[in-house]
Amino acid sequence: MGKRKCPTCKGSGTITCKHCHGTGSVGILAPTKCSRCNGLGEHSCPNCNGTGEV
Ligand SMILES: [Zn+2]
Ligand SMILES: [Zn+2]
Repeated sequence: MGKRKCPTCKGSGTITCKHCHGTGSVGILAPTKCSRCNGLGEHSCPNCNGTGEV
């Protein structure tokens, strides 16, 4: 029962935001900061909660 590297984020603990596709902003005509990743373009992995291990 050892910890394994998270397959979702490949052990990094963060994944590219699918909401803004890693750009950090949403909207084309009037870009606004992505609320999912807070404008960072990536956020903590929901599969491992940012630990990188499952
Ligand atoms: Zn985002
Ligand atoms: Zn993960």
